Order: sequence, then structure tokens, then C-alpha cells
Amino acid sequence: MDIIEDIQKYCASKCKSNKSEEWEKGAVEYIQTLDFKNIDARKSAEEYIQYILADYFALNKEITTLQAKVMHALITKMTLDKLGLNNIKINYENRKEGNYAEAYYRPNDDSLHFFNQNVCNPDLFLKPYSDKVDLSEKSRLGFFAKQIFVINHEIQHAVQWKMLKDESIDKNNISSENLIISKQGIARTLVRQYGTKYFKNGLDPERLYKENHDKFYYEIEADMFGFDRTLQLLVRVSQKFYNLVKGANYNYLEKFNNRKNQLENYSFVMWKHDTNPNNMEVSANHKASLIIDTVLPN
Ligand SMILES: [Zn+2]
Repeated sequence: MDIIEDIQKYCASKCKSNKSEEWEKGAVEYIQTLDFKNIDARKSAEEYIQYILADYFALNKEITTLQAKVMHALITKMTLDKLGLNNIKINYENRKEGNYAEAYYRPNDDSLHFFNQNVCNPDLFLKPYSDKVDLSEKSRLGFFAKQIFVINHEIQHAVQWKMLKDESIDKNNISSENLIISKQGIARTLVRQYGTKYFKNGLDPERLYKENHDKFYYEIEADMFGFDRTLQLLVRVSQKFYNLVKGANYNYLEKFNNRKNQLENYSFVMWKHDTNPNNMEVSANHKASLIIDTVLPN
């Protein structure tokens, strides 16, 4: 496992102490210098994940925060490189109380942000939760799959942002998909800034997004790619892991198909927003246009 030896060498020379937080930072820093277009690097990373699955999860052994973070950062960087997004920075931070996001992508400095509380969750991921190996392994793998899904969901937001930036060069030639995404992004921003001014009294400016979060085109698309890319990775690292997540226990294949279907029939997706008398649901596409048409002229 060359990558792991290299990470250790890098940390041993760069880190001032043996503190785990320092080594985790060093490891993430080093992983971001790697290029996973290189097949050997990919293989080595996948082998490391296979090793943790076989020698720790399947044997009901505890893993360290460093191991958890190395796996997470390897998967993130591998996916970014595969998509040609090698400039995006990967960050791990402590989630502040009251923040319920799973992770987030920040367009202004092209960075992904993950929370230590998730990535290194002691009870759901690092430690086995029961003596029954099978049960414990299943639930840890389920939690791990969720983390991989979150990585892929957030990375899709980076892909969307890049597509919009690329397309903005030729405004007459925007794809319908990116037109929907742009309009919804603009509508969301307008409601946040002018919601209380131009819509019914007392309108909560965050409500449009909160109540319809899962019905925004870009969220459904991020989910769809999230499930799909997670399955694509799992099938390469472990058939057992893949079968578990794909089928009966976690239904990632069904969830993927469900999102795909929603996108294909997006004109039927409805949004709620308290801007008409009975808070009737309105077609999402129409609603975004309506908000833009109401606020922009003013
Ligand atoms: Zn999202």
C-alpha cells in the first residue's frame, strides 16, 4: 500500500507532534497533491479501502479517526480527479451546534466542507456497536455508504457550478437543464433578499428553500449522481458492500431510479411557497419564473 506509506512519510516529516489532529491534517494535505488519473494511485487507494473493510469492519474492530479521514479524503479526491475538478479544495471542520447540513460546497473559493462529527463519528462508524459482527458490519457499511453519497452529492454541486460558469460565456446557447438550475438559483436569491418586501406579510425568506429543498432541480440531480457514483465506486471495492447498498437494506439503486424519473418528469414537480392566497402548490418551473417576474421589475 504505497499511498499509505507515503502519507506516513509525509506526516512524519511535516507534523511537529504525534497528535492525531495534526496527522489527519497532514494526510488530507498530502492526498490533495495526488493525481488519481494515475491508475496505480487509484488502485492503491481502492486497496486501502478494501483493507479497512476486510481487516476492520468484517472483524468488528475499531478504526482510528486518521483511518476514517484518509478513506474519506481518498474517495473525495479520486472522484474530483475523475471529473476533472482537481482544483477543488477539501476541508474538514467541526460542525457548529444548530447546523444540520451534512456537508457543503462553497462556490466562491471552490471548496468542499465536511464535518468531523460525521466523517469520524465514533458510535456509528469508528467503533462496532454490537458483538454481533454481522449486524455491526452492516450498519457501519450503511453509514459509510451515506458518507460516500454525501461526497458525491456535494461534488455534483461543484459540477453544476462549473457548467453554469462555462455556459455563461455563451448566453444564447444555454442547455435547458442549466437554464432551470440558474432560474431556481436566482429565484432563491431574490426571495432571500426581497421576500419580505414583495411577497405576503411575514413571509419567511428561507421558507421557499426549506420547504422545497428536495424539489429543487439541482438537489434532485445532486442526489441522482450521488447514488449513482456511490454504487460505481462500491462495485469496484467490494461486491458484498455493493450488494448491501444497492438492494434491500439501503435501496440506492431504487433511489437513483426515483431521482432520475423525477428529473425526466420535472414539469410535474411542485413547490410550495406562501405567495398565493391558499398556499397552493405550483409547478416548480412556473414558480421560479413567477418569483423572478415579481421581484426583478421592482
Ligand atoms: Zn445539496
